[in-house]
Amino acid sequence: RLKEGRALAQDVWSIFNVANLPSDCINLGQGYMNFSPPKWVTEAANEALQGVAENHYSHPKGRMRLRQAIKSFYDPEFNRQLDVETEILVTSGANEGQYSVFVAFLEQGDEVIMFEPFFDQYLPSVTFNGGKPVYVPLHPPGSGGKSTSNEWTIDLDELRAAITPRTKMIIVNTPHNPVGKVFTRAELEGIAALAEEFNLIVMADEVYDCLTFDGKEHVRIANLPGMWDRTVTVGSAGKAFAATGWRIGWLIGPEYIIRPTLAATTRIVFCSNSPLQEAAAAGLEQARQRGFFENQRAEYTERRAILTDTFDKLGLTYTLPEGSYFILLDISKLKFPDDYPFPKSVLGRGRDFRACWFIALELGVSSIPVSEFYCEEHANIGEAYGRFAFCKDTDTLRKAAARLEGLK
Ligand code: GLN
Repeated sequence: RLKEGRALAQDVWSIFNVANLPSDCINLGQGYMNFSPPKWVTEAANEALQGVAENHYSHPKGRMRLRQAIKSFYDPEFNRQLDVETEILVTSGANEGQYSVFVAFLEQGDEVIMFEPFFDQYLPSVTFNGGKPVYVPLHPPGSGGKSTSNEWTIDLDELRAAITPRTKMIIVNTPHNPVGKVFTRAELEGIAALAEEFNLIVMADEVYDCLTFDGKEHVRIANLPGMWDRTVTVGSAGKAFAATGWRIGWLIGPEYIIRPTLAATTRIVFCSNSPLQEAAAAGLEQARQRGFFENQRAEYTERRAILTDTFDKLGLTYTLPEGSYFILLDISKLKFPDDYPFPKSVLGRGRDFRACWFIALELGVSSIPVSEFYCEEHANIGEAYGRFAFCKDTDTLRKAAARLEGLK
């Protein structure tokens, strides 16, 4: 199975890792923050480390304090009384949670539909478990000028045509990585109707649920009529509290999905990091009363503007994200010498790998080539874009923006 697709190839995160780039290169590549989690959250982590039970195995379902905190936070989101024993599962990051769902549900040859571009991890996570990824395009906006992430559109007829008797699951990632698209209620209703008609499970990857901009509403597909019973929603403490290295995430869904997924996660990791579960619990317990997510959205709106103002000034073509923290910049016209000393890892890949490498080395700002978020067959579509992450403090983004003026 590991021979399938790109599984054994060096992944984009290690090629464009800061360790491979000049030390003064500003990292707008891999999406993690250059600031700490809020103090009241890290203080809870420090406190947890002083305990005894908090330093040992937790229940494989997750520590009760965190499951309770997830319940209190999400009950109003899902408009129901979540059961902490059967409908919530703490996982070692959102990735591991998704992987465990695939372990639990995929039989050899089962098909999993994903919109393309897709978060790169889905592909090997599906194929490692014997599944077959099936791609439905997010159609890019027409070329030229600025567009918004919602101009990347889905075609429900294409989605219907992709469904076969082997289709088991569809992944819906909103807000979307790497496009920043926040799926509209109408789009989600269309997807939901097909999931109902063909009896599919929906994996709702909503790890960026706390990051939507311009008043854009984050609609949870699990809340659409009839959809709770077929949807597992994925959440992430890393995205919510600027703690991507903690590897704490969660799954919320009906018992028949959570129970076998618990069996899978128990075998994979047994349980997640205990003290940081306590800290994530503190985060969720206090976030609403502190107005934390509203403030965070305002901060990210300002961060986004630092890059987009520069791209506007330079007249560059890009996608304005309505959610998540990525901007797709059109790099298809960027000129660079063919004989530039590119490393082998980059030479074997699409033009965007070379373009992003060139920008990193020449301008000192790293980004992620977007062909990585496409299957090999469609990689050429992604080659037009570099993905710039704006989960950085404003000083760093200003410095990066000044350097990116060199794209002119
Ligand atoms: N989700 C993050 C991103 O898209 C990091 C992913 C990873 O490193 N695997 O940048």
